[in-house]
Amino acid sequence: MIVLKTRRELELMREAGRISARALKLAGEAVEPGVSTLEIDTIARKYIESQGATPNFLGLYGFPATACISVNNEVIHGIPDSKHILKSGDIVSIDLGAAIHGYNGDNAATFACGDVSAEAKRLMDVTKESLYAGLKCAVAGNRVGDISNAVQKYCEDRGYGVVRDYTGHGVGAKLHEDPPIPNYGTPGKGVRLLPGMTIAVEPMINEGTWRVKQLDNGWTVVTADGKLSAHFENTVAITKSGECVILTDPD
Ligand code: MG
Repeated sequence: MIVLKTRRELELMREAGRISARALKLAGEAVEPGVSTLEIDTIARKYIESQGATPNFLGLYGFPATACISVNNEVIHGIPDSKHILKSGDIVSIDLGAAIHGYNGDNAATFACGDVSAEAKRLMDVTKESLYAGLKCAVAGNRVGDISNAVQKYCEDRGYGVVRDYTGHGVGAKLHEDPPIPNYGTPGKGVRLLPGMTIAVEPMINEGTWRVKQLDNGWTVVTADGKLSAHFENTVAITKSGECVILTDPD
């Protein structure tokens, strides 16, 4: 069931989004050689709690942390760990959200740790650009497939693999709502976008094959070929006219 949000609900989602975005920004600023992924998680959790909000990943389906922190060949759902010390050259995908007043925000970005290779930088840039290519199509009257296809085409035209096993999603009173927002698809197909829909668009893009596998810990998803992966995500609201509004905006 797709829930359309009222203006008041969108205001509450904007607040959840702002806290989510600020927590992500702080977490990203903490990415540097010698820091553990658990330290980054703690920074995000403390910030979210200081705002009177709740880390909405913590405990969801049993996930043990505030943030999913996925390094290099890890695609999503990396578990923060005091023994995982970041080193220069790593690329670090951080995915987190906050809930407040009963509504959720969800966002992600990949950060460079120290000096990263030109190839890694390009993957990060293209993944971020593909998010915005998708968001340009997040317009009332379009369909989910328009977003999906824009992301897919942007990345595949540049030689990258688009993860298919995991998707974006609706966001609202629940972190994961309908409809799913795949990062691959056909223009003009799928659910029609309506004003008041709030969705998370989140390209997960691989340097090599789109295929992924899950580690034995039951969480961490890695690329099947061991190559790098990047992840960017915003929660947005579909408006009556024109471009969507980014709810996970720190400002
Ligand atoms: Mg999400």
